[in-house]
Amino acid sequence: MKFTKSIITGGAGFIGSNLTDTLVKNGHKVIVLDNFVSGKKSNLSHHKKSNVKVFKIDISKSKSLDKYFKGADYIFHLAGLAEIIPSIKDPKKYFINNVLGSLNVLEAAKKTKIKKLIYAASSSCYGNPKKLPISENDEIDLQHPYAVTKFMGEELIMRYANLFKMPNISFRFFNVYGPRFNNSGQYSAVIGNFLSQRRNKKPLTIVGDGKQTRDFIHVDDLTSAFLKVIKSKYVNKIYNLGSGKKTSINTIAKIFGGKKKFIPIRPGEPKNSLANISKIKKDINWKPKVSIKVGIKKLLKD
Ligand code: UDP
Repeated sequence: MKFTKSIITGGAGFIGSNLTDTLVKNGHKVIVLDNFVSGKKSNLSHHKKSNVKVFKIDISKSKSLDKYFKGADYIFHLAGLAEIIPSIKDPKKYFINNVLGSLNVLEAAKKTKIKKLIYAASSSCYGNPKKLPISENDEIDLQHPYAVTKFMGEELIMRYANLFKMPNISFRFFNVYGPRFNNSGQYSAVIGNFLSQRRNKKPLTIVGDGKQTRDFIHVDDLTSAFLKVIKSKYVNKIYNLGSGKKTSINTIAKIFGGKKKFIPIRPGEPKNSLANISKIKKDINWKPKVSIKVGIKKLLKD
């Protein structure tokens, strides 16, 4: 019997490993390509080798992606460097990983007859939005190298879709959270920080007055959108991928409970962010199911 072969670049990371779980549950054989800079072997150690094969590959350096991509049904291109401040300190590294890496993936994908290629883009392309919720056609406002490089990756994905009739989709992720969330780094995202602060019995660090809002989407909702989009007829499309609900940092802190500490505002950050998700809801008949309260409570239990 022919099985479904899926490639995930960055498959050992937080989102990639959750996507691996979802795909395996749905009968896919998964090939993970990861350079293990932020990805971890332990994120995938619960899988059988017959279902998930893991290779240490750096997509920005590798000239040999073709042999992994051969015969693939789907390619999920999630590999890339995240975080804003490090991208300002070392933009070249971000350009090489996120732009050149994406180009290498596209060049290899072009040579094989895939059913769909999904790119993990970022809502950071909207910068400081003038109005909320943000729609896909709203103004692009690139504030730092991270946003620039993720957006350039997306531009390449869409240009290749046009030029070579590739079945490409770009998902602009809002604030994704869930199990295996990366919370080790200095610049890790708010829910990851709160989790490690709680574990270490430290007060929760709230930036500014904590009234700023974000659109938090649970990784289970995100991976369910991936599953639906690969089955849909749509190609060459960009979709916002968020919950469509805004939550303040103070509300997040309240769900966590415990002591709080207010710390100085971070320059360049948007005050508010919220996705308009009507396009994806309509096209692929998807909707987010995990509320922020339930999602965080689940994380705290794990
Ligand atoms: N934030 C916070 N405490 C932290 C980390 C972040 O209050 O320990 C705030 C941050 O200032 C921002 C929001 O939480 O307003 C979301 O930050 P994150 O880095 O998670 O995502 P992004 O700013 O990229 O949307």
